[in-house]
Amino acid sequence: MDIKNAPSFCNACGRETDHDILWLEEVGVELPDGAVQEKKVIAVRCRGCKECAIREETWYYDLGEDGERTALEYYPPRLWVDRLHGSTH
Ligand SMILES: [Zn+2]
Repeated sequence: MDIKNAPSFCNACGRETDHDILWLEEVGVELPDGAVQEKKVIAVRCRGCKECAIREETWYYDLGEDGERTALEYYPPRLWVDRLHGSTH
């Protein structure tokens, strides 16, 4: 199986780096209006420092249209998000 690259922000490197996708799970839910909301949980590992993280993406697909990513979260939370937004979580 090919290991795909998912550029992600790395806490240890302090910047966006290439990440290997270790594991990926997609769960789609059909909404009442026919659109599909899909949640992707992706385990990634930094190619620089080998630190692992989880990306959780939410995608929204209108009928017959390209998907749109409506949310992206990292676990553990990325430190730069806190710096940029002054968030406390
Ligand atoms: Zn790294």
